Amino acid sequence: MPAEPGFDRPSTGDTAPMAHQDLAQIHQQPRTPLLVMVVSAALFSIIAALALVWENRDHTIEAADRDNSDIARLVSFHVSHVLGSSVRFLDEAATTIRSRGIASFRSDQGQRFLVTLAAKYPELQAIALADEQGQLVVASSLPYPPPNIDYSDREYFRRHRAGEGLVIGEVIMSRSLGRRGTTISRAIRSPQGKLEGVVLITIESAHFMELFRKIQRAPHQAISVLRMDGAVFVRSPEVELGSRVPQAPVFEHAARGGSGVYFEEHSAIDGLARLIAFETVDGFPLLVAASQTRDEVLAPWRTFAGFVGGGLLLTLGLLGIASAHAFKSVAQNEVLNFELERQASTDSLTGLFNRRQFLALADNELSRSKRYSGPVAVLMMDIDHFKKINDTYGHKIGDLVLQRLASLCTRELRDIDSIGRIGGEEFAILLPNTNGERAAEVAERLRKTIAETGIALEQGLPLHFTVSIGVATTHDVETNVDTLLSQADDALYEAKRAGRNRVAAG
Ligand code: GH3
Ligand code: MG
Ligand code: MG
Repeated sequence: MPAEPGFDRPSTGDTAPMAHQDLAQIHQQPRTPLLVMVVSAALFSIIAALALVWENRDHTIEAADRDNSDIARLVSFHVSHVLGSSVRFLDEAATTIRSRGIASFRSDQGQRFLVTLAAKYPELQAIALADEQGQLVVASSLPYPPPNIDYSDREYFRRHRAGEGLVIGEVIMSRSLGRRGTTISRAIRSPQGKLEGVVLITIESAHFMELFRKIQRAPHQAISVLRMDGAVFVRSPEVELGSRVPQAPVFEHAARGGSGVYFEEHSAIDGLARLIAFETVDGFPLLVAASQTRDEVLAPWRTFAGFVGGGLLLTLGLLGIASAHAFKSVAQNEVLNFELERQASTDSLTGLFNRRQFLALADNELSRSKRYSGPVAVLMMDIDHFKKINDTYGHKIGDLVLQRLASLCTRELRDIDSIGRIGGEEFAILLPNTNGERAAEVAERLRKTIAETGIALEQGLPLHFTVSIGVATTHDVETNVDTLLSQADDALYEAKRAGRNRVAAG
């Protein structure tokens, strides 16, 4: 529609005619409550799932820590007990050997003495006596005379030579047993303190391994008994002979307290991330560490998290589908409501506002114009001799004339103007912000355009028709829709009376 200079005014929402509202806007209206519900449900599901998974992870780790601590405590108790027996045995043996002299043990009787002594302490598998040079004198596991076995290169022997009395050894391959074992040894010295020999017990690693197998809580649980200087006393799974872990953080932890749990990203022994529990061994410079790899501990939790994650995705997916349906039906409802409202407010033949809607809009515009004190004009338009058109060309052509008139008026008027079909062939036009003079000009332009535009008929000449228009403005009358319309009606009657196809102002 052409804009008319000096005639436009800013269009405001409360005067925008219904028919001009865009349907697309309806689709974009936020469905806030539904959206809030869907987003809340989704957020709640996500938070609940995360909390559940997190809680389960904590529980899993706590349970593994408990398992490791139990094992560490049990092994520590056992090692303390075995070492306690060993020390008592060594003390007893050392006293006897010193009093009788090492030389007297180079005999069958000497060997039997060790065998009898060893029988009192069944968990101590082998007892041997070495002389001051580190040469084997007699062993409970070997018949007399034993083969030549030299212990002088052993760590414990060197330490005894250096002055130590009791030495807790490290994992070695026992020369008298031919199997892995750990030694506990005691020096035998002359009253002057000169080393005369060493009596030693070898506890087979298999003894501890059997115990570990029985008490292990997880298939890959590692159990280590370590000397405070990092030497391995015994470990399951086994490590290479002579391996040492002096840098392991467990020593720092153990130095601070008797027991505890901690997590190590790179285990000092196998480089794996491990959950570790440790316990020092009462009365000995040893500690026990029981551990499980993080992957092993968290494997069931990962499966659980996978299930929860899958459930969450499924829930969110279903929520998404359900809400998409809900949004769709809300949108459909809105479109339906819009359509119902449109039908209730428009005339089906011409698409113009019906009488009721037009009167409502006019009322609204009048109230608005009062606030801004601008003029409002109403045109009342009636087709001339319409009955004759119907009679001559038939009702269908009559309808066509009505539709053509509607489209002509819509085309000629501004966006802010409203047109209503208020009777059979009567139309009312609301012109906001328009004075009487300007309204008469608009009416005249309309009249002319209508008179010049015909309808092409299938046969014969085009059908021409005319209208008469009555004009009324708020400046002429008391501002009230009824009086304004009745004033325009009077003017229309005047136009008819004056010969039709003309405009009359009230
Ligand atoms: P005047 O110049 O005095 O207005 O003469 P007129 O014949 O137009 O006046 P009148 O009010 O007597 O006739 C109106 C006619 O409009 C009567 C009716 O048949 C016709 N009419 C009303 N509604 C419709 C409609 O929806 N379709 C058609 N085709 N005709 C209609
Ligand atoms: Mg009429
Ligand atoms: Mg008429």
